[in-house]
Amino acid sequence: MNAPRSRAAMDGFRLFAALLVVANHTSPLASCTAAGDFWLCRVLARVAVPFFLMTSGHFLARGDWTGTRRLMKKAAVLYGVCVLLYLPLNWYAGQLSWPDFLRRLVADGTFYHLWYFPALLLGLPIARWLSRLRSKTALAIGGVLYLIGLGGDSYYGLAVQLPGLEDFYGGIFQVFSYTRNGVFFAPLFLLLGALSCRWTPRHPAFGTAAALVLMTAEAFWLQNVGAPRHDSMYLSLPLVMLCLFSLLLTHNSGERRDLRAISTLVYLLHPWCIVLIRWSSQAIGLEALFVDNSLVHFLSVAALSLCAACFLCLVRPQAQRPTARAWREINLTALDHNVDALQRHLSPGQALMAVLKADAYGHGAVPIARRLQQKGIRAFAVACLSEGIQLRKRGVRGTILILGYTPPEDAPLLRRWRLTQTVVSLDHGRALAAQGHPIHVHLAIDTGMHRLGIPAADREAIREVFQLQNLMIDGVFSHLCVADSSGAADEAYTLRQLDAFYRAVAWIRSAGYTPGAVHIQASYGLWNLPAQPCQYARAGILLYGVSSGRNMADVAPDLFPVLSLRARVTCIQDLSPGETAGYGRLFRAERETRLAVISIGYGDGLPRELPQRGGQVLIRGQRCPMVGRMCMDQLLVDVTDLAEISPGDTVTLIGSDGQQMIAAEDLAEQCGTITNELLSRLGGRLPQVVVP
Ligand SMILES: *Cc1c(COP(=O)(O)O)cnc(C)c1O
Repeated sequence: MNAPRSRAAMDGFRLFAALLVVANHTSPLASCTAAGDFWLCRVLARVAVPFFLMTSGHFLARGDWTGTRRLMKKAAVLYGVCVLLYLPLNWYAGQLSWPDFLRRLVADGTFYHLWYFPALLLGLPIARWLSRLRSKTALAIGGVLYLIGLGGDSYYGLAVQLPGLEDFYGGIFQVFSYTRNGVFFAPLFLLLGALSCRWTPRHPAFGTAAALVLMTAEAFWLQNVGAPRHDSMYLSLPLVMLCLFSLLLTHNSGERRDLRAISTLVYLLHPWCIVLIRWSSQAIGLEALFVDNSLVHFLSVAALSLCAACFLCLVRPQAQRPTARAWREINLTALDHNVDALQRHLSPGQALMAVLKADAYGHGAVPIARRLQQKGIRAFAVACLSEGIQLRKRGVRGTILILGYTPPEDAPLLRRWRLTQTVVSLDHGRALAAQGHPIHVHLAIDTGMHRLGIPAADREAIREVFQLQNLMIDGVFSHLCVADSSGAADEAYTLRQLDAFYRAVAWIRSAGYTPGAVHIQASYGLWNLPAQPCQYARAGILLYGVSSGRNMADVAPDLFPVLSLRARVTCIQDLSPGETAGYGRLFRAERETRLAVISIGYGDGLPRELPQRGGQVLIRGQRCPMVGRMCMDQLLVDVTDLAEISPGDTVTLIGSDGQQMIAAEDLAEQCGTITNELLSRLGGRLPQVVVP
């Protein structure tokens, strides 16, 4: 599974955009055609920065804008480094007078190309705030801000003829040197990037060309009437960007992180390169060629910037590829499908509470929660405090219910992270309340599982919990213990549990208390029972597209597994008959045998006895049996019957490869356990790779 390298249109265009910025600052065509240079630098090159902003918006909106704070932190750090990097040039140019330097630091950027950072740092919170409104409203506000910006930019000469506007813009220019800034320029493009996944023109290539022609006409006309104060913003620029961005999106099927890094570095370093080229050509007396000839000037600055960027990329520490050894592949489209399928089983007014305990059953709680949040899910359940805090830290909003016990002395943390705690017993409720911190709770009622909760019949205990200070009871719930079974006795038991639960809820109401959100079904309760008068259904295992075991496979056809487990072939071993392999010499070759060593083991959560229970893997679309003792980090596979194999090949332990598929249910059954256990044990050593 090598990352596709071919059509990374977005990252490719990034580099082109960075070179356009270099062109903008070096005027390549100035010595041969003034009009051509104007078009290249003042029209075409104006797509570069909006493109950078749109990619940020697009990327953030995929994660529900949850990465905004992280991006701001990154931008602030990078800006800080650049401010230092350009201080010598500020000093050389006499730009260090104190109050003005401070103003430029927060408003304009301390060097001419660094305006992007204050614009991003100001535009991001504005765009994020706007993104909470309806998208049309958000776009309208972003559009109005942009229009105000236009009046202070290329339409200035026309705008100031209206009464009062000269003073208005004069006020703005006390703070910002341009209206191309974080208030009037950045928010619209960040929002357009976020929304561009939903809006695609039918003929994006034609649209881009037509919009560019329009923008050219607009720019030359404005130039003719002498309107521009500056020339960064045009009325038609947002249209150009929308068409261009969807053109690139439709041709984008991979990523090139190297190009991303190189283009950022070219952007950041090129002003230094301009200075270096000037100084050095002066020193050797070649100014006529390297500075006065604008095309050579541009080419030499671009080449020097590219070389510097590539050099820095080469010497920086390499990040490890997540698919180097063994990894969990998460299919979010399958997750979407499963959510839809489960939601069809809800009763009117009922919502899913997604159960994300044990790192979302081994799937990775954060990427799963983010996707569910995008799907509109607003309630989550975890097993313990640390899982809840992790989700909050990564930007998950809505209700997060902790299903298990939390020590009462951690009540301040529950409050700090706005987590909802289960009251698991009367004593627990009393102790939580005694901490003196008002917290949100759901009350667990035991209806026959005898695990957590106040017995449904113990009305006095229930009354006491409702009377406790500091506990805000938002919900009452119970848990079914045989809802996955279709045996007559089990079905009767489930009905008794339901009856006991609803009678307790009715009693709570009759006693004058409000139970809040009522819920009792987990996955199988939701799937097997008729509609229930509940506000939530707590779905876990079925959300992940698998059933707990093979005997429940009748559930699965409607669902798609979310997780695949993959590793790599690391070595090939050829054995003669009679030779043995692995710990305990458990495998003995009966024939000329070829073994592949696979880069995953029980240390990653695989059951150690799998090879002895008929475990198999898929390599190049074919089944191969595991042999010998599984090691902590490796296992052996007999690949004698495979026509071709080489180190580095992808190995599938759960999931499909070609026509073949290994279901998690089969693996669990082979090892005498349920899918829930198998998946939740998949270790934190396995990176998650999200596939679209
Ligand atoms: C784990 C758990 C669930 C989710 O169960 P699934 O069968 O995986 O859907 C729901 N409620 C409680 C209390 C749980 O502990």
